[in-house]
Amino acid sequence: MTPKWKRSERVQIAVQKSGRLTDHSIALLKRCGLRLTRGTDQLLAVAENMPVDVLLVRDDEIPGLVREGACDLGIVGLNVAEEQRLALGPEKAPPKALRNLDFGGCRLAMAYPKDGAAKAVADLDGLRVASSYPKLTARFLDQAGVKAEIVPFSGAVELAPRLGRAEAICDLVSSGKTLAANQLDEGETVLKSQAALLACPAEPPAARRELLELLKRRIDGVMQARETKYIMLHAPRGALRAIAELLPGSESPTIMALEGSEDRVAVHAVCRESIFWETLEALKEAGASSMLVLPVEKMLE
Ligand code: ATP
Ligand code: ZN
Repeated sequence: MTPKWKRSERVQIAVQKSGRLTDHSIALLKRCGLRLTRGTDQLLAVAENMPVDVLLVRDDEIPGLVREGACDLGIVGLNVAEEQRLALGPEKAPPKALRNLDFGGCRLAMAYPKDGAAKAVADLDGLRVASSYPKLTARFLDQAGVKAEIVPFSGAVELAPRLGRAEAICDLVSSGKTLAANQLDEGETVLKSQAALLACPAEPPAARRELLELLKRRIDGVMQARETKYIMLHAPRGALRAIAELLPGSESPTIMALEGSEDRVAVHAVCRESIFWETLEALKEAGASSMLVLPVEKMLE
């Protein structure tokens, strides 16, 4: 397919090619209205309906691509973005972190061998810590006032203690199963992470500014909609105040008459927070009935 737009008009977005962030990143872009077909080389997905190219790369390359302006936007874990920002030093502008995206949640944490000498950061003076995140680890040790050697490790960090290379590790954890399987106890959290939207630190060229703003607004809209629910219920007029107070994050609800009923009305409201079973049970107690909670697909203010 020959692109209909000039290169300078096309927005470039970098996402992870194959890994834990890939499916969620592509799904987010699709919910923003991009019709994507993966190119045959699998390195580029061209949007059919907008001048947008999605570059599929290793996650570690994403902050660099965005910082240099090769890509306008990128989706990557905060762990990778922060590590690279620290490695960059203060004189270079890092990519702008525009917003968190609520997926890819994990934490960078210290972990100590069950039968080891060190059980907490305070025990690490003079010992070694293996990590694929040497800068974040160094900052954490520094802040704890501990002088330990950092052993940079590129993969399978959890094996480092067993290989006699370190007395502790600093690695990504989500469930903790890998740590447990390697006889490691999770210790201090060094960084809480999730996927984030990064943008080039330089102002975008005029040719792409409007489209970039539109995409950012749509991403905000998708994120807002995910949390937002539409609730419908019936309630006695007398209970309306109590019910309105129970609806989480809602502004003025719509009240409608119910045919053939003097006392009961229908209440419709947009709630900007999740609605848990407990909320529905409390609403019922307050007199509500026939409750329906619906997902919101799109939002535009
Ligand atoms: P690539 O080939 O792109 O370099 P990778 O092996 O570095 O891939 P993945 O394992 O796919 O990366 O993880 C990508 C990101 O997913 C991590 O940087 C982190 O932000 C997030 N993540 C969420 N949960 C976990 C977890 N349990 N372990 C590792 N990363 C996780
Ligand atoms: Zn990687």
